[in-house]
Amino acid sequence: MIDFHCHLELYKDPVAEAERCALEGIEILSVGTTPSAFRGTLRIGKKHQNIRTALGFHPHLAAQRMGELALFDEFLPEARFVGEVGLDGAPEHRKSWNQQVKVFSHILRQCASVGGRLISVHSRRAAPDVLDLLERHRSSGTPVLHWFSGTQKELSRAIGIGAWFSVGPAMLRSNRGRDLAAAMPQDRLLTETDGPFAMIQNRPLAPGEVQTACSVLGEIWGCDLEAAKTLLKSNLHDLEKKVV
Ligand code: MN
Repeated sequence: MIDFHCHLELYKDPVAEAERCALEGIEILSVGTTPSAFRGTLRIGKKHQNIRTALGFHPHLAAQRMGELALFDEFLPEARFVGEVGLDGAPEHRKSWNQQVKVFSHILRQCASVGGRLISVHSRRAAPDVLDLLERHRSSGTPVLHWFSGTQKELSRAIGIGAWFSVGPAMLRSNRGRDLAAAMPQDRLLTETDGPFAMIQNRPLAPGEVQTACSVLGEIWGCDLEAAKTLLKSNLHDLEKKVV
């Protein structure tokens, strides 16, 4: 199982969750929300090879944490993965739009300057602007658009610039989410939970709880669950080869 976008640090007992995932062989990308939390998040996964820790700067915190940009730059050389970063165009985050753009542009520029990173990207109601910036900063690395919810046309554009995608049980519940997943290249797709934010049956998804996403992908791809899992695993392997 692969959970390529999980806020491990936000669970009640992250260390216990990390241990369980290690035992169960679940591959995790533990995404962060602020540069100042990076060291602590790194500690949670330190003992476990299956947990990768990303350096994050969540768009919802861009305005409030602008002062942490220097800290981001300081940690970047030791981070292979960056996320969660991106833009959010929902009405409640419109006020911070200019700061969001400033932070995300800065991050992409910095990623390019260190040779590129694997970047887990938030693009809720902001797909065109996110894609503009990714296009402008092509050498920033490989973006993995998490829970992509743009239009089919925007999706085509994302595919055209080489983006990857991570999809989870919450996204795949709706027909719209399934249609988007069906149009994503099979060899550029990973699963995620976005837990503990994303829910299932009124409770947060646990780290690595992606079984239903794997089954839906199997249905979409016309293969059985084991074949879907094998493909996802080989995708992760391919993705990780992109950044050393
Ligand atoms: Mn998230």
